[in-house]
Amino acid sequence: MTNILLIEDNPGDARLIVETLRDVDDPTTEYEITHVERVSHALELLRTKDGVDIVLSDLTLPDSRGVDTLTALSQADSELPVIFMTGTNDEALAITAMHHGAQDYLIKGTIDANTLAKSLRYALERQRFQNEMKTILAQDEINRQEIILLADQKRQLIKLNQAKDEFISIASHQLRTPATAVKQYIGMITEGFAGDVPSTQLDLLQRAYESNQRELDVIDELLKTAQLDSSRYSLNLSSVDLDAFAADRVKVLRPTVESKRQKLVFQPGADVSVSIDQHEMRLALDNLIENASKYTPEGRQITVSTARTKTRALIRVRDEGVGIAKQNHKLIFDKFSRVSNALSDTVSGTGLGLYWVRRIVRLHKGTIRVRSEPGKGSEFVISLQL
Ligand code: ADP
Repeated sequence: MTNILLIEDNPGDARLIVETLRDVDDPTTEYEITHVERVSHALELLRTKDGVDIVLSDLTLPDSRGVDTLTALSQADSELPVIFMTGTNDEALAITAMHHGAQDYLIKGTIDANTLAKSLRYALERQRFQNEMKTILAQDEINRQEIILLADQKRQLIKLNQAKDEFISIASHQLRTPATAVKQYIGMITEGFAGDVPSTQLDLLQRAYESNQRELDVIDELLKTAQLDSSRYSLNLSSVDLDAFAADRVKVLRPTVESKRQKLVFQPGADVSVSIDQHEMRLALDNLIENASKYTPEGRQITVSTARTKTRALIRVRDEGVGIAKQNHKLIFDKFSRVSNALSDTVSGTGLGLYWVRRIVRLHKGTIRVRSEPGKGSEFVISLQL
């Protein structure tokens, strides 16, 4: 059903339109006509009655004409299609109305059922399309505003994050000086600089010294994190033979690993020089080997190996330890994230190690991957671009 609002002050013309519409043979719709003689009546009707699909209006009415009629109607309902009916002498006015958004105009005296049906159909179709476009454009605008808002929020979050990193860095620096002084004084007392110390007190002082050392370690870890997070931090790159570099770390860490009755094996296979910050990459590789040892039971093997492809150099650290569930593979690289496993109660950690590894590898524009399953060991692979 198509509801037409006919605005026509000439009763003869109105009757003609009603009769012409009766002759329209359109299988897709039927026409229901509401006839008024003034624009003011039409506006009143639009205010009170829902469901007008299209307006068919005389161009020159007693209380309005052309563009003014259009403006008044679109203020009442901006999505309503309007077709004007004109005499041959005011076609120019009708064209102006079209420029202002009228869907079509028909010249009185030439309106037959076919022309009228076609004009109504096209007008409805065009209006529907325009309305859809309007909705899409409005949605586009909403999206654009949301993107601006998100970008703004992102900038604020980056700023907050920077402020937090700075706070951690400053607080750690401030804490380090008195904590170091405490360590020195405890050391002096235990060494007898302030006179003899009974053994019962020495025992307590020893425990204070160890706690203080742990405190200093945590402060140093926070300082290292702040340093790696700082946007001003830059690497000190130099060219090194990857096999020799990895072999050296294996040699340095072998005593610690073997003290846990684990085997540490090195398999060189890269035979290539890489440009790395040796100090930082040492920290990364040491962390992977230490983790492999921490999360592997006694008697098992840890294998460090190197390899190269056409474009990349690889360092692998494989263990036969407790493994990591798939859902935690991403999580373990987050700052301060620790995941409990069969061995985590027996080993200490702050959850910063893998965060550093990933940060350092990314500063080198490399990637780090983990392959692991609970009970089946883990493999961490650092991949660096050649
Ligand atoms: P931490 O060892 O201090 O907890 P890390 O950032 O080094 O912090 O490691 C995060 C978590 O990843 C650990 O708590 C542990 O659950 C898991 N993990 C790291 N390396 C291994 C490994 N080789 N085998 C099993 N789990 C591991």
